Amino acid sequence: MIRKAIILAGAALLAACAGSVDRSGVAERMYVIECGENHVKDLSRWTPGANVGKPYVFSDYCYLVKHPEGGWFLWDTGNPDKYASMPNGFSAGPTAPITAFMRKPLVDSLKEVGVAPTDIKQMAMSHSHGDHSGNANLFTKALVYMQITEYEALFGADAKKYNLPVANFEFLHTPGEPAGVRTLTGDHDVFGDGSVVIKSTPGHTPGHQSLFVKLRRTGPVLLTGDLAHLYSNWENEIVPGFNYNVDMTRQSIKDMKAFAARTGAKVMVNHDKGQNALVVKAPLFLD
Ligand SMILES: [Zn+2]
Repeated sequence: MIRKAIILAGAALLAACAGSVDRSGVAERMYVIECGENHVKDLSRWTPGANVGKPYVFSDYCYLVKHPEGGWFLWDTGNPDKYASMPNGFSAGPTAPITAFMRKPLVDSLKEVGVAPTDIKQMAMSHSHGDHSGNANLFTKALVYMQITEYEALFGADAKKYNLPVANFEFLHTPGEPAGVRTLTGDHDVFGDGSVVIKSTPGHTPGHQSLFVKLRRTGPVLLTGDLAHLYSNWENEIVPGFNYNVDMTRQSIKDMKAFAARTGAKVMVNHDKGQNALVVKAPLFLD
């Protein structure tokens, strides 16, 4: 029997905390975990007007953050672990624009750093697309932060028109589990000390979000989800036509550029394999 996910009133809690919170916290470490690859035959779908017919390989990462008092927070869950048993990858058919791979299951990468899926008590996804929500069902003990607009796109009356993979969110309906969704209507300071902050950045999907993480040695970083698929798209504000709202995405990019300039955050573009080539990957970590 399926029951409705628990929705907690995040806004009221946030309002109660505002004004009295120390914003000087830092996260202890952040693991950048390889969470698949997405091979495309024609990059121009993501770079309108350029790269016609050019194949490309998009990287796909999950980010595991450890807070000194608050424990683990997971950002994005990558392609589904089951793709690891498909040597030729998964595609929706011979004409599908993407073939998705998972070289090493997320559950194995987590095990390498001593973390079980049930250790994750808080998580969020940049958005609900399959390359970010592929393993969400592993995290049955986690509270999931999701913009109300994304929640309604997934589970609301018009869910079908958004074509989002609702099956990836079955865990939210598992009887007897404490997991649930805390819906957000904007930014959310996860640990209340400014170290890990979810930023509302709509456009790619109705409730797309980004993540700001402060680390002691690395400094602040901004994980921009799919606001841009390549760093050059970020720089030039190039947005693919398949976005929920292209203008909204462009505005979110502008807002996050201003935010990154203000905070000094390094921008990390999840799918840009080249930009991420020199970033240390799990089991090593950024601190
Ligand atoms: Zn993506």
